Amino acid sequence: MKLAVVEGDGIGKEVIPAAIEVMDALALPVEKVPVELGYGKWERTGSAITDDDLETLKECDCILFGAITTPPDPAYKSVLLTIRKELDMYANIRPIKPIDGIVGVTGRNDFNLVIVRENTEGMYSGIEEIHEDVAYTKRVITRKGSKRIAEYACKLAKSRQNRVEIVHKSNVLKSDRLFLDVCRQTASSHDVEYHDTLVDSMAYNLITHPNRYDVIVTTNLFGDILSDMAAALVGGLGLVPSANIGEKHAFFEPVHGSAPDIAGKGIANPIAAILSMKMMLEWFKLTDQAKLIQDAMEYAINQNWVTPDLGGKATTKEVGQVIAGRVKQLIG
Ligand code: ATP
Repeated sequence: MKLAVVEGDGIGKEVIPAAIEVMDALALPVEKVPVELGYGKWERTGSAITDDDLETLKECDCILFGAITTPPDPAYKSVLLTIRKELDMYANIRPIKPIDGIVGVTGRNDFNLVIVRENTEGMYSGIEEIHEDVAYTKRVITRKGSKRIAEYACKLAKSRQNRVEIVHKSNVLKSDRLFLDVCRQTASSHDVEYHDTLVDSMAYNLITHPNRYDVIVTTNLFGDILSDMAAALVGGLGLVPSANIGEKHAFFEPVHGSAPDIAGKGIANPIAAILSMKMMLEWFKLTDQAKLIQDAMEYAINQNWVTPDLGGKATTKEVGQVIAGRVKQLIG
């Protein structure tokens, strides 16, 4: 397996090495290809990502990605959006599942849902006009884009509880009528139970009744916001992994950003990055190895090897070392 490793900026440089240490404990035949991208590179070279970088990413089997700081330059083009579009990774998958030993803001642990977010269009179309007194961003919803994300959500639902919640704002946004119609038709043709909710109601329901949902499918911006909210259910941004999946490429990253406020202090929680690496193993159908990672992570948490965001005293490096050590022990 040829893996592009993008640490990026800020805490990405801390949590990705921890995730790699854990992966290395599995002793898999992985060729790691480091790729430098992001704000640091932009400051040094004037470019946050080059065509050559994109080629390297495309040549790898998949990408493990940390986080990138957005430079304060209006001309700057988002690295993440560029990668998602160039590699056509249309599905952003964020599993929201309680972790044994950690309590989220609501105190409940009776939920297990996945947010499936359309990743290439919607409000992040990149079609914008900026004038002095007015600015426009074009929200693009296509039948093709809606269909393929709906298909993804339905296939995922089939492997779970066979239920899809379609989240939209079609009472106000005409573009969402297309999204809603396509999702309904797709769910119906796949024989998947479906229901729909307005995004504002969903924001409320997600906190009050997270146990109602199995697979949530939604458009780009709504998915972005709801999944950060949902991270609070689990116990924080440092815990939630994600995958960006396309027909040919896949890219795994923690949901959190580069967290400049804690970067360099060695206290970032590496669990989201480690779980992202675990999602990568699952994508490669290495389910036994993925299970080992889960067990080793739960062991570290139960032994209170946790970072300050979870009330512990451990450093990022220590958490990585303990989990990697436990993986080696379990392998025997
Ligand atoms: P960016 O601009 O790159 O998105 P940000 O600071 O605006 O960075 P996040 O990095 O997503 O946004 O996180 C918001 C806050 O949550 C951080 O400032 C940090 O305090 C906390 N946080 C995020 N990730 C972690 C983590 N892995 N461990 C501990 N705290 C975290």
